[in-house]
Formats: sequence, C-alpha cells, structure tokens
Amino acid sequence: MATDPVCYTEVDEESATQKTTYKGQTYYFCTASCRKKFEEKPEKYTKLGPGFKFDPGMTC
Ligand SMILES: [Zn+2]
Repeated sequence: MATDPVCYTEVDEESATQKTTYKGQTYYFCTASCRKKFEEKPEKYTKLGPGFKFDPGMTC
C-alpha cells in the first residue's frame, strides 16, 4: 500500500487512478482533489519524507 501524502489515507497502487511523479518518486492519492493539492504545493507534502507522521489536521 502507498500513503496519500495529503490526507494519509492508504491507497492501493494497483487500483489507484490518481497519481503523480515528483522528483522521480511516484505519489498516489485517494481523490483528484488530493492530487491537485499536492501538485499545487508538492514541497509542503514531501517535506516530511517517507517516514510520515500522522497529523490529524490533514484531510482531503
Ligand atoms: Zn486524500
């Protein structure tokens, strides 16, 4: 499973329809709105790195 970097929902890479590539890494999203948020400010969502810490304030 991949983690949606915007809302921390788990996303199945196999069935994900929303994804984007940033700095050579592929990110998966639960919805188009999460992908849009990420594409507007990718640095905001990638700053945390792969060891995400869940922030309950972050939602779709
Ligand atoms: Zn999401």
